[in-house]
Parts: sequence; structure tokens; C-alpha cells
Amino acid sequence: MLPIDPDADLGRRAWIDCPRCRDSRHCLACRAGRNCGTHWRYLLANSGSVLHVQCPSCAHLWDHETHFGRGGDAA
Ligand SMILES: [Zn+2]
Ligand SMILES: [Zn+2]
Repeated sequence: MLPIDPDADLGRRAWIDCPRCRDSRHCLACRAGRNCGTHWRYLLANSGSVLHVQCPSCAHLWDHETHFGRGGDAA
């Protein structure tokens, strides 16, 4: 088993390219910007416009800057 963060939750996912394994690079669904059923990341936390995510394929952890509107309600 990969060392997936204990806070990881299948109900909280994010569709972001993994900068380490880039497993979605050749996936047509991902390239089309769809919510692919295979290539998603655990959304562990978010603060402002930064998402703290982990890749379930290679267990890489990183912070992703979304540049989404700050101060907005992240519902
Ligand atoms: Zn990865
Ligand atoms: Zn994909």
C-alpha cells in the first residue's frame, strides 16, 4: 500500500495533473478537461486558492495554486 494521507477521502477529489508521474498525460478524457474516473487526486485540504492534494498513483503530495477568486466561499 502507498502511504496515502489518513485525511484522504474518496469523496473529496480534484482533477489536477500530477507533476510527478503525469499519469493523465495521454488520457483523452483528462486532456478534454473532463472529470476522468481514473486520473484524480485526493483533495486533502485547501486554504484560499491553494489546494493540498495527493496523487493516489505515486503518493506524491503537493500544493496546487488554482488562482481561483480569493475570499470566495469554497462550497
Ligand atoms: Zn502521481
Ligand atoms: Zn484520465
